[in-house]
Amino acid sequence: MYWNTRTVADLETELVGVEAEISEARARQTVLVNELDRAQAPQSDGSRSMVEWVQAHLDIDHSTAQDLVLAGRRIGHHRRLSFRLADGSATFPRAIAALKYAEAGATSREVEQSFSRDLDGVGRLMAQRRRPTPGDEHKTFTGRYFTMQPTLDESSYRLWGQLPGIMGRTLEKAIHQRGDELPRLPDQASSRGQRNADALTAIAQDSLDGIDTGGTTPGPHVTVFIDATDATENPSPTETAQIAYGPMVGPQTLEGLLCSGRIQVVGVDSGIPVVTSRTTRAIPRAIRHAVMHRDGGCTIDGCRSRYRLEPHHILPWCHGGDHSIDNLTTVCWYHHHVAIHGHGYRIDPETPPMRRRLTRIPLPSGTDPP
Ligand SMILES: [Zn+2]
Ligand SMILES: [Zn+2]
Repeated sequence: MYWNTRTVADLETELVGVEAEISEARARQTVLVNELDRAQAPQSDGSRSMVEWVQAHLDIDHSTAQDLVLAGRRIGHHRRLSFRLADGSATFPRAIAALKYAEAGATSREVEQSFSRDLDGVGRLMAQRRRPTPGDEHKTFTGRYFTMQPTLDESSYRLWGQLPGIMGRTLEKAIHQRGDELPRLPDQASSRGQRNADALTAIAQDSLDGIDTGGTTPGPHVTVFIDATDATENPSPTETAQIAYGPMVGPQTLEGLLCSGRIQVVGVDSGIPVVTSRTTRAIPRAIRHAVMHRDGGCTIDGCRSRYRLEPHHILPWCHGGDHSIDNLTTVCWYHHHVAIHGHGYRIDPETPPMRRRLTRIPLPSGTDPP
């Protein structure tokens, strides 16, 4: 059997040789396409364009037909390229890439140099050379959009969109900068995507505070409805809540909202609001101020962030923790909402008051709600 006797090198030589034959055949096709184009072939069968005609008659895909017509019309203007295609020293895709590069204004020397790059590399050279026309610019600008879509129960959102280059770069820079300012967690590396999400939320939060209060003392952002039948004073750790006209939140998020003080809690019995328990469930303003004054900054060991400092319950409210000053400690926004109420860390109560450490160890079961 002869294929057993051939080496990889032999097979490769033959494979490359066949590609050269394909190039030569494509070169002959480009000459024919050129002649058919001059003869206005599409008119013979009502095709709307030469590309459509070639696509239909050769039974090939649209982009190959486009390449054949482009080569048929233009490769004759670039003699070196047409020779390279005809003698098989450039493959058809390579010749097309070089042709497009030349047509975009590259010198013949630059075109020659592009042969040392792979095809993606030539694509990047092309993109750098392309100058958007006012028409392109207008299209990109008017096509700008940014969409946010909640899932059915609004427990999460999907975000996507498309922006003109400068707007995109501005957004990217602001988000990356803010993301880099956020502290790092000791044993949990967050991905760039996660940091982007945290940064975007932090920026939005700043903006809301600015509007609500002129940047001084934040008022409530959201109203949360909870089931009042058993949860008003003794909420269970598994309690979920419905934000007014908005998302369903889980117990972790609810606890975080209670710490942040920017919520109003309304108890609901069979759909009817029965009690507003903001005073008992959210930390009273005087106590917030006292705690933050006492601590002066984020109390997590090594954290120097002063961004959006908030008091947090060391023993969570839902585990029976109260608003006493000793049960509260000041943490920065990132440690509070990302590390603690997001990732589920908690403050190790055994650590010194100004050098708190985070722990993953769950609370002992004895500290369940009374
Ligand atoms: Zn908290
Ligand atoms: Zn911190």
